[in-house]
Amino acid sequence: MDTCKAAIFTEVEKLEVVDIKKPVPKANEVLVELKTCAICTWEQRVYKGINQVDFPFIGGHEEAGIITAVGSDVDLKLWNIGDRVVVGMLTSCGECENCRIGEEGSCQNFSYENMVGGLDTRGMGGFSQYLAVPVSKLFKIADKLSYEEAALTEPLSCVVHSVELANIQLGESVVVIGAGIMGAFHAILARNKGGRVIVVEPNEQRLDFLKTLGFNELINPNQVNVVEAVLALTDNKGADIILNTVGVSKLAEESIEMSALYGRVVLYSSYHPDTPISVSPNKLHRRMTKLVGTANSNTHDFITAMKLLNEGIVDVKPFISGTYPLVSIVEGIQAALTPETYRIVIAMD
Ligand SMILES: [Zn+2]
Ligand SMILES: [Zn+2]
Repeated sequence: MDTCKAAIFTEVEKLEVVDIKKPVPKANEVLVELKTCAICTWEQRVYKGINQVDFPFIGGHEEAGIITAVGSDVDLKLWNIGDRVVVGMLTSCGECENCRIGEEGSCQNFSYENMVGGLDTRGMGGFSQYLAVPVSKLFKIADKLSYEEAALTEPLSCVVHSVELANIQLGESVVVIGAGIMGAFHAILARNKGGRVIVVEPNEQRLDFLKTLGFNELINPNQVNVVEAVLALTDNKGADIILNTVGVSKLAEESIEMSALYGRVVLYSSYHPDTPISVSPNKLHRRMTKLVGTANSNTHDFITAMKLLNEGIVDVKPFISGTYPLVSIVEGIQAALTPETYRIVIAMD
């Protein structure tokens, strides 16, 4: 039996590197030898037992690699051995109504119980050295982009989805709450859209990092009242757009409080715990506020994120806080859990 290595969650706080059966691509699939897989908050929550899954479970959904074999029906003009690729949305079925309207991130057949990538273990598959991948889930990496950078296509695609929903216009004021990697990506894309970006973040180290990226309107919520600070910075009008990347219900309330006339409030993060918020319907009514949620991304967002990286429009190198070999994935997860790191990448070979 042909085997490869994979890191598998076997219980809470237990992640083991084991030999698994190497997947075999079907006629319309390619075999991808993964080179990198970044560790998302989602995998950190599985490790800690906050996101509950049935074990054994294979995590990893931010992966990049190289095609090493192609199925018999694959059009070799489009995809061939040696192509460097990002694998995206492997867990979407491609056939349900949501997938067919281009909302693969909201696939109706999605379940953490599903097995993907030709693997025998349920889960998203990115922590396996090989995956069998339908060609519709491949995105080509430019020569100049490293596998480490390419692994960040998925998180960037989720932020693309969020920022597109906010519909930022030139010169609008944009408050980004939180400056973890997702907050920082929001700030970068909002600036690229022509927004005036104000970032709210309590961690001084992160604020200093943002300054190195050229962001100077920074609010530390430990030092000032955030709503008052935003009003002071906007002639008491409030911000046109608030992008909230921190899953604390009180911040969702404050986001609405600080919004301007015709303001748009985007709730990006998931909430743990999911405490209900209190909203003044009259405030929404009078100020014509739009309150929207956003989650995941779709093929369109992936193509956009891939372009942003391939063309060097967004530089994610400053966000790669470390690379760990697959055998040291537990150390990698531990590093990812500390607030000082942005993204930890696992080198899969
Ligand atoms: Zn992710
Ligand atoms: Zn689907």
